[in-house]
Amino acid sequence: MRITVNDFEKHWQPFTSNREFAENPRLIERADGVYYWSHRGTQILDGCSGLFCTPAGHNRPEIIDAVTAQLKTLDYAPHFHTGHTQSFEAADRIAKLMPGTLNRIFFGSSGSEAIDTAIKIVMAYHRANGEGHRQRFVSRERAYHGVNMGGTSLSGLPLNRKAFGAFMPGVVHLRHTWSADRRYDRGEPVDGVELAEDLQRFVNTYGGDTIAACFVEPIAGSTGVLVPPKGYLQRLREICDANGIILVFDEVICGFGRTGKAFGSQAFGVTPDIITMAKALTNGVQPMSAVAVREDIYTKVVNAAPDGIIELFHGYTYSAHPAACAAAVATLDIYERENLFDAAADLSDYFLDKIFELKGAPLITDIRGYGLLAGIDFEPLDGVPGRRGNQLQTALFNNGLHIKLTADSGIVAPPFIATREQIDEMCDIIRKTLQELVA
Ligand code: PLP
Repeated sequence: MRITVNDFEKHWQPFTSNREFAENPRLIERADGVYYWSHRGTQILDGCSGLFCTPAGHNRPEIIDAVTAQLKTLDYAPHFHTGHTQSFEAADRIAKLMPGTLNRIFFGSSGSEAIDTAIKIVMAYHRANGEGHRQRFVSRERAYHGVNMGGTSLSGLPLNRKAFGAFMPGVVHLRHTWSADRRYDRGEPVDGVELAEDLQRFVNTYGGDTIAACFVEPIAGSTGVLVPPKGYLQRLREICDANGIILVFDEVICGFGRTGKAFGSQAFGVTPDIITMAKALTNGVQPMSAVAVREDIYTKVVNAAPDGIIELFHGYTYSAHPAACAAAVATLDIYERENLFDAAADLSDYFLDKIFELKGAPLITDIRGYGLLAGIDFEPLDGVPGRRGNQLQTALFNNGLHIKLTADSGIVAPPFIATREQIDEMCDIIRKTLQELVA
């Protein structure tokens, strides 16, 4: 390999132990299907669809060709005051997958941008409605809503907040839904619906008319996959309805088939007012995110502005980039043509059987899962949160598996095109790596 350690001094890597990485670099050089190849030439099974974004597998020629053709025709177009046809096509295709009337689509480039966009749309809506006093936001402990200021304010992951101090004021957190009593629960826990009453308590404490929105991931993903207790999301919906609170589902991980349905909303039978999405939207080929907004929220904001001026002073230079739109349309074509959401649903039972068979393997303290998404908790190392996770990330990589580790939880999210043999292989590598660590 050509790279020397000195080359690692210029790039400050995100969410990485940079000092450790420079000592022991793990570079990915190539990808195809459900595999990566490292700079050492080793093959690595992609057990997390990259970072939840490549359910159709890597290196799909249909998407690459669509992006290439788009770049040769229109490489960039300003999206303020002008448009291009691909963005309307992409918006139309996304709207068709949405529940209810969430058919107004606003584009960004990352999940974090989608979250901050959703926060601002909520604020603009309440002001347009004459309810600018609704300034409080509700989120949940252990939530991950990206890394921009709004999203970090909503975040409930202590390590993501701790180093930075204060964020957006007026954010209150529901309790998370993990409990030692629900260890090794598969699918939706039957207990725990009462945790949704935390929202009612905030209504009682602060006044329902001070609360702007409640943001939740249908399944809390990055924290290690916390599946909502049965009836929990329905109860949040009821409380929001009774109090004029906007319910936002952050579906950056759950969206596009991960639950076996198009969105978590359909999987759990609850329609929010706004959905944020990113990741699998372009199968990871181009950075892109979207916010789907209920028709009447859009209409309220737009109609509140005087004629002839911009209605929402918000947008990004790369909103609806032509190459991203082309990638999104080509990706949605693949999902549809290959019935990949159904494929995810079909593979789910086998996947969860195999993952739950890991119960009893060394260092594992809990397992949860739904659809093609599973979380595994590991015993902390030396009592330092995150140290076991880092150790495992490296050990698994060296043994030929990529999954995502957040603190000391592992998240497995295979591509929807994975075979049963590849699922077996993922679980075998996890078991073998844990055995090596305790040997
Ligand atoms: N929201 C959720 C639920 C996520 O899981 C993530 C990323 O993992 C984000 C938001 C942020 O997305 P991005 O990393 O694209 O900014």
